[in-house]
Amino acid sequence: MSIIIENLTHIYNPSSPFETVALDNINVEIQSGEFIGLIGHTGSGKSTLTQHLNGLLKPTSGRIIINDFDITKKDIKLREIRQKVGLVFQYPEHQLFEETIYKDIAFGPINLGLSEEEVDYRVKDSMELVGLNFDSVKDRSPFELSGGQRRRVAIAGVLAMRPEVLILDEPTAGLDPKGRDEILDQIKSLHEKYKMTIILVSHSMEDIARLVDRIIVMHKGAVALTGVPREVFKNVELLENIGLAVPQITYLMKKLKELGKPVRDDVLTIEEAKREIQNWLRSK
Ligand code: ADP
Ligand code: MG
Repeated sequence: MSIIIENLTHIYNPSSPFETVALDNINVEIQSGEFIGLIGHTGSGKSTLTQHLNGLLKPTSGRIIINDFDITKKDIKLREIRQKVGLVFQYPEHQLFEETIYKDIAFGPINLGLSEEEVDYRVKDSMELVGLNFDSVKDRSPFELSGGQRRRVAIAGVLAMRPEVLILDEPTAGLDPKGRDEILDQIKSLHEKYKMTIILVSHSMEDIARLVDRIIVMHKGAVALTGVPREVFKNVELLENIGLAVPQITYLMKKLKELGKPVRDDVLTIEEAKREIQNWLRSK
């Protein structure tokens, strides 16, 4: 599914003392099957932007076109859009409410009016996608699980709707390193296997550098920069000026280059750095 965002502005509490321009004339196109990393300092408008993409928030002005379909029109069926564009909120586990994991994941599909068999199939399938064992977990209460497991249940609930676009707002916030890597690996494989369009909001430049096709950098409600990670992370000064950074390994390689070592200074991952350093040492 392609997404076109045209002149999108969102103002919270307009004409009041609390008026906040959260999005200021955003123009962005996202191709079907792209894996987008959305970064920006707290308050830059990331969550406000993502909530427009499934119709949860309405623009103050501007349009959003998903697959040639203007979702900001008045008479639009939001139900259909919410099914196609799955949004995983920040701390989605706070929204689990059913007494069993099964019921929680089945909630959306049941509302779609699917047959019992199809619902059952989807619950199983989604649990597998996020690495939850169906038989041992399905009848348990979400409250018996760890934070990481609960997060998976929440993501499975969105996947059970079979969305074509998956938006994840800081899906690894507050998880331990193992839980984070597992969830990110699952997201990566959803993108690879199903060509799902993915928008990942993250504060980890390492994760963004490793995973995404393209980065959109937000600053004060506007798009400050967009491009492939290698291009975006060349703008160290600009990123630092807006409260962001480049991956730690990129800083290290830049330092080596400054010291006159024959390595590239646009390295993004540990793997790349390893290769560069090995080549340098071999050439000595
Ligand atoms: P981010 O997700 O990048 O941290 P947000 O989209 O949450 O940014 O916030 C963008 C701006 O809008 C901030 O100034 C924030 O304080 C404001 N904002 C966000 N949500 C609301 C709301 N429900 N009511 C009023 N202002 C809000
Ligand atoms: Mg946010």
